[in-house]
Amino acid sequence: GGVVMPRSITVLGATGSIGASTLDLIRREPDKWRVVALTANGNAIELAKLAREFRAEIAVVADEASLADLCAALSGSGIGAAAGPAALVEAAARGADITIAAIVGCAGLAPTMAAIEQGGVIALANKEALVSAGDVMTAAVARHGATLLPVDSEHNAIFQCLQGNDLAHVRAITLTASGGPFRDWSLEQLQRATPAEAVKHPNWSMGAKISVDSATMMNKGLEFIEAFHLFPVGVERLRIIVHPQSIVHSMVEYRDGSTLAQLGPSDMRVPIASALAFPARMDTPCERLNLAAIGQLTFRAADEVRFPATRVAREAVIAGGAAPAVLNAANEIAVAAYLDGQIAFTRIVQSVEDVLSRGLAPAPACLEDVIAIDAEARARARELMEPVR
Ligand code: NAD
Ligand code: MG
Repeated sequence: GGVVMPRSITVLGATGSIGASTLDLIRREPDKWRVVALTANGNAIELAKLAREFRAEIAVVADEASLADLCAALSGSGIGAAAGPAALVEAAARGADITIAAIVGCAGLAPTMAAIEQGGVIALANKEALVSAGDVMTAAVARHGATLLPVDSEHNAIFQCLQGNDLAHVRAITLTASGGPFRDWSLEQLQRATPAEAVKHPNWSMGAKISVDSATMMNKGLEFIEAFHLFPVGVERLRIIVHPQSIVHSMVEYRDGSTLAQLGPSDMRVPIASALAFPARMDTPCERLNLAAIGQLTFRAADEVRFPATRVAREAVIAGGAAPAVLNAANEIAVAAYLDGQIAFTRIVQSVEDVLSRGLAPAPACLEDVIAIDAEARARARELMEPVR
């Protein structure tokens, strides 16, 4: 048996925060990896630089207007260049041994599904895709014999704590949450929170969208739905606890009273490495955990009055059907509007609830259904965005 070297890898969202952390690990083991496709939204120059460094087969930008820049930047390299949603899907369908799904938002769904259909290993960071598609994605994983490895630090922790155990013996799964930059802010302060304040996360350095999600706690809401699909123990066994230090990444409690936790530094290269090397292990340059220096790990209950997002997400997953896809789409629109200065911070989750309250389509049965539900929810959410005075 054993893994054949080099392994081929595709990074969807190569220019982002997760993409950069992944490529940082690959860069340290050049003999072990062969890069198939690298993709980005519009940053053609940065993407071309990465494609040349890693000698990728092909570089793809989602934004068609960036194709000319990409072609120019890759000229003479022998690296393929393409643009648009279909090219993204085609790149993902080249069947790399492992695909890092690290596009932000539901925009990553179609390419992630294309990678799943090749039956390889999918290291999933793109939680919005799984939240929107839910059973459509997990059914495709089963049908095509693909392996879905969670990269989201909490889910990666849970996955590790479940190794060698049976889901049937799980009493509870507890997702830890840092609480975000506004953890201790009053409702009144939250109303005036600016985008610049929201993207300054105390423990993690991440893309703008997930940083805002972390500030509203919608990130934990999305992760609750993500966990529901990855670890089918039932919604009543899923918990959330605030843990400001972000050292315990999540926990699994078993029927005998044992609780297993995974600990590590707040560095996404740790869960990414765990997925890249699974079921083996690889070296990372990450700072080692020094618990004596940290001194204290603290925990407290989540406050769903100041941060209603986790309640809204739990209700959406219980409602089922199209609700999680609608929640995700409405949240993407609201976060973009907030970052654009159009709405107040506290309006983000309120508007998600407003969109959800307007009735729901039936559960999606295929990728096209999910995309249609997503588009319709985005249109509804956009109508609700009114400028802040
Ligand atoms: P980011 O904004 O830094 O990067 C996003 C990547 O997706 C970029 O390469 C960008 O070019 C690409 N992209 C953006 N819009 C696109 C579109 N419409 N079509 C195609 N490509 C597009 O985001 P990130 O922080 O790296 O997060 C990526 C995903 O990983 C998100 O789903 C996020 O929730 C998840 N995640 C991130 C972290 C983290 O620490 N950054 C942790 C856990 C999970
Ligand atoms: Mg996470």
